Amino acid sequence: MYKRLRIGILLFILLTVAISAWRANAKVTGWKSTLQVALFPINADGSTASQRYIEALQPESIEPISKYLGEQASAHGLQMLYPVRVSLGPVIRTLPPPQPRGGSALDAIRWSLSMRWWAWRHTPATAIHPDVRLYLLYYDPATHTSVPDSAGLAKGQIGIAHLFATRTMHGSNLVVSTHELLHTLGATDKYEPRNGLPRFPEGYAEPARTPRLPQLQAEIMAGRIPRDEEHAEIPVSLDETLIGPVTAREIGWARQ
Ligand SMILES: [Zn+2]
Repeated sequence: MYKRLRIGILLFILLTVAISAWRANAKVTGWKSTLQVALFPINADGSTASQRYIEALQPESIEPISKYLGEQASAHGLQMLYPVRVSLGPVIRTLPPPQPRGGSALDAIRWSLSMRWWAWRHTPATAIHPDVRLYLLYYDPATHTSVPDSAGLAKGQIGIAHLFATRTMHGSNLVVSTHELLHTLGATDKYEPRNGLPRFPEGYAEPARTPRLPQLQAEIMAGRIPRDEEHAEIPVSLDETLIGPVTAREIGWARQ
C-alpha cells in the first residue's frame, strides 16, 4: 500500500516536472524575446586558487558568451539584436548533488530531480529572473588534473560546468560553459563517446573543407577541433568555434 503510494507520488512529481520543463522549453527556444541566462560561480574544491579566480570574475569576463551567441544567431538568420543576455549572479556556497558515474537510468532521473531541488533551494534571487541557470564549479588545476564531465539537464534550463580556476583556461572555460548552456536549450553532443572525436559531418565546423583535415575551428557541440584522423584539440577561445546547422536546428534557430 505504502509502496504504491510512494510510486504514485514519485510519478506525480515526475509528471509535474516534465510538464513545466516542456512549457519552459517552448518559451526558451521560441526566440521571441532575449533569453536571460544567469551564471553562478561555486568554489568546488574549497581551494584558494578557486576563491581567487571567482573573486576576479567581472561581468566583462563572461560578456564574450552573449556576443558570440548574438553573432552565431545572426549567421543562422535569426533577426534578433540580443538573442541571449548572460549575467553573473552571486557566488553559491553549497555544492550541488554529485552526478552519478555511469549508473542506471533511474540514477540519472534521481540526480536530475535532486539537482532541480538543490537549484530551487540554493539559487539566490537576481534582479532579472533567469530563463536558464548555469552553475560554474571551479577547481584548482594544481590539485586536479581533470574535472568531472559537465552536464546540462536537457530541456531543464539548468546546467553545470566543471572548470579550471586559472586565467590561462578562461577562454576554454567560456567554451565549456557555452556548450553546457546549449545543452539546456536542447542541443546534443556531436562527438563519439568512445574516443571524444568529432562526428562527421555534423561535428565539423567546415565539413566541406578540402582537404577535410586539419580543421581550423570546432563545432561547439563537438567540443574539439579535428586535426587529423586520431587527434582533436580543445579550443582555447570561443573564436575557435562555431554553431553548426544541426545544433542551430536543435535550439530552434533554423526551422527548415
Ligand atoms: Zn556535451
